[in-house]
Amino acid sequence: MRSTSDQASRRGVTARGASASCPRDETEEAPVSDRFEVDVAVVGGGLAGLVAAVAAARRGMSVVLCDTRAVGGRARSDRRDGFVLNQGPRALFRGGVGTSVLSRLGVSFSGSPPSRAASGYSETTGEMTRLPVSAGSLLRSRALGAIDKMRLASLLSTLSRHQRAGLDSVSAAEWIASLGLSSRGSAVVSALTRVATYAGDLERISADAAVSQVQLALRGVIYLDGGWQSLVDGLVAVATSCRVTLLEGERATALHTRADGFLEVRTPARAVQAASVVLAVGSPGAARALLPRPPAWDLGPPGTAACLDLGLRRVPAVRVAYGLDEPLYLSTHSPAAELAPPGRAVVHVLRYGARSSRDDEAQLWALARRCGIGEGDVVVERFLHEMPVCHALPRPGSGFGGRPAVDATGTVGVFLAGDWVGPVGLLADASLASGEAAGIAAAHASGRRALAGATLWR
Ligand SMILES: Cc1cc2nc3c(=O)[nH]c(=O)nc-3n(C[C@H](O)[C@H](O)[C@H](O)COP(=O)(O)OP(=O)(O)OC[C@H]3O[C@@H](n4cnc5c(N)ncnc54)[C@H](O)[C@@H]3O)c2cc1C
Repeated sequence: MRSTSDQASRRGVTARGASASCPRDETEEAPVSDRFEVDVAVVGGGLAGLVAAVAAARRGMSVVLCDTRAVGGRARSDRRDGFVLNQGPRALFRGGVGTSVLSRLGVSFSGSPPSRAASGYSETTGEMTRLPVSAGSLLRSRALGAIDKMRLASLLSTLSRHQRAGLDSVSAAEWIASLGLSSRGSAVVSALTRVATYAGDLERISADAAVSQVQLALRGVIYLDGGWQSLVDGLVAVATSCRVTLLEGERATALHTRADGFLEVRTPARAVQAASVVLAVGSPGAARALLPRPPAWDLGPPGTAACLDLGLRRVPAVRVAYGLDEPLYLSTHSPAAELAPPGRAVVHVLRYGARSSRDDEAQLWALARRCGIGEGDVVVERFLHEMPVCHALPRPGSGFGGRPAVDATGTVGVFLAGDWVGPVGLLADASLASGEAAGIAAAHASGRRALAGATLWR
């Protein structure tokens, strides 16, 4: 990699805004204080972008990654008064494609599974009942009648082998309705499906995606020691060891193909020339804003959530609760993971599908109180409204296959990564899988250009 400034290529660069007083066409050649010439430029440093950068760098490519903010995106955690708060509840699926990607890249992590004892919460009646999340708790549950227990027992025992063929044409709600359960039994399965998929409206996610997520959830999830920041830090460490240049605090404002066929990413202070580019900017809207000729992707609906993140003086009486008549969830992440000082607790409360900020916050507090959390217990609190959990859910009719491929950008040499991209995984699994695929594709594209006799930057 070459830079015209010997000082600019490091982590922690502060964004320097353009000084012009009138708006200018960002695609024009304009004076910039610094230029980079690399094989691969990655825009966006969430999980997808960091993985893409490492995957390309491990194939011998010189790589620059820029992010508007500090890297990590939605996976960043915050430290407050000795508590580590993820942005809402975070569970890593043990058997998911994401853990394979992380282990291939040499990123290690530690953590523990959540408490197995879960309660079902009815907002209408205020009732809390033991929820059947395993064969044992199913038998002891008073939430269900004998027929539901029989049908659920058979579903739980066969779910891991459930045939998903044909399920991409129906919704998760239709699949649950086909199970022949009572309304209470359906509410239990719906609650479990919401927790596995983060989809608030089960009419809008394909049964195919929902069943595969429930299967993954049954294989186990872990809450990470140090929060999801530990994944970000692990990826940054690998990226640094592979000599990826991280430009934090630098927003990409334009991307264009130069006359010589190379690509150029512009930030207010810099021009990054690259043989290939990965756009891992979180949302399809942000990718579209940078693409010269954005294709018309036929995307599923986004999934949002409202989150109440709490650091508490003591562990609450009810550690895990799933809403049965409302799309709600509460989980004690620490103890389980190391996120709080000894004897204290980190609890996340979430509503799948955000509505008005005031209603959501009140509803989350009502569940927290019902689980035994009083105002005097709270050391730190944070309410995050309308968080994007997933930018395009696999929808009925197309399933995972309906999401755009990593090369569906309409511009040669430009690739996509994110939780709405590629045929594999949901949520962070999709970001990690598409990040790796995009990084590999970008490395191949850069390599092809070098072989074709174009300028080789290194
Ligand atoms: C409340 C909540 C709970 C979740 N729980 C789970 C869970 O339990 N399990 C799970 O697997 N997943 C979960 N997820 C989903 C998971 O966090 C995301 O799928 C994943 O972190 C997305 O990573 P990403 O890199 O694709 O996008 P992001 O993290 O959004 O990263 C995109 C990055 O691009 C940067 N950027 C955007 N535009 C530009 C630009 N023009 N120039 C430079 N940089 C730019 C942004 O600053 C950002 O850092 C949850 C998400 C939320 C919100």
